[in-house]
Amino acid sequence: MGRIIAVANQKGGVGKTTTAVNLACGLAQQGQRVLLVDLDPQGNATMGAGVEKRTALPTAYQVLLGEADIYASRLRSEQGGFDVVPANRELAGGEVEMVDLDKREFRLKAELVRVAQEYDFILIDCAPTLNLLTVNALAAAHAVLIPMQCEYYALEGLTDLVATIKKVKQKLNPGIEIEGLLRVMYDPRSTLAQQVAAELKSHFGDKVFNTVIPRNIRLAEAPSHGLPGVVYDRASRGAQAYLDLTRELLDRYGIAVGAA
Ligand code: ATP
Ligand code: MG
Repeated sequence: MGRIIAVANQKGGVGKTTTAVNLACGLAQQGQRVLLVDLDPQGNATMGAGVEKRTALPTAYQVLLGEADIYASRLRSEQGGFDVVPANRELAGGEVEMVDLDKREFRLKAELVRVAQEYDFILIDCAPTLNLLTVNALAAAHAVLIPMQCEYYALEGLTDLVATIKKVKQKLNPGIEIEGLLRVMYDPRSTLAQQVAAELKSHFGDKVFNTVIPRNIRLAEAPSHGLPGVVYDRASRGAQAYLDLTRELLDRYGIAVGAA
């Protein structure tokens, strides 16, 4: 069964989608079978994977409401080399409609277990909230990957997220763990960033990935071309950092890593 990793942080614009898309692509380039689930009504992961969100049907919305099968919702990111369960703005309504459904926290998990055998990794791109959609991701996940910018308020936000993960662990998903904290958009010249990074290390130790993702314009340009950064400009520092992250992750699972 594929390892299910939720990419989450309720703070907006911290690099969740960029991380989910580039890691999905990096893993695929290493021969891993990858599914990327877009669980954000913004549909940024869908677009970033080169899939048109406006015409995608069915999407995560229909899947979560039990109106469509996850099999039927999967589309291929041709350039990325992985499968995508797409999302678009419809999903915002789904969050509300799901509240009345049976086993509402486990809607996603029930669908993912059906396809999990077909993948080595399933990445879930979460929206910047801790709502029922994100709870579904956390209830389904083996682990959470938390991208964060090393800013003053970052640690405060992290406390809320860690508290939510703890609650989910107690009530919904005893096996959930933190896959790792990823420092993104990192500026090594900033003293504050260095301080926050050091504080992270002292609190979370090995849970902090050694790989650091620098601020890099090529990563920000890539989505407008419908390409993961690691495809759009593979030689860029940002892309190289995501390829390093891919290797670091695979290394943890003892999966042999190629030069790709
Ligand atoms: P949201 O909370 O809205 O879903 P997010 O956490 O998914 O946002 P992204 O969409 O990945 O964050 O990134 C926010 C913005 O920052 C985007 O415009 C993205 O292209 C840009 N960005 C992400 N990572 C980097 C980076 N390392 N260097 C430069 N720009 C980046
Ligand atoms: Mg996003």
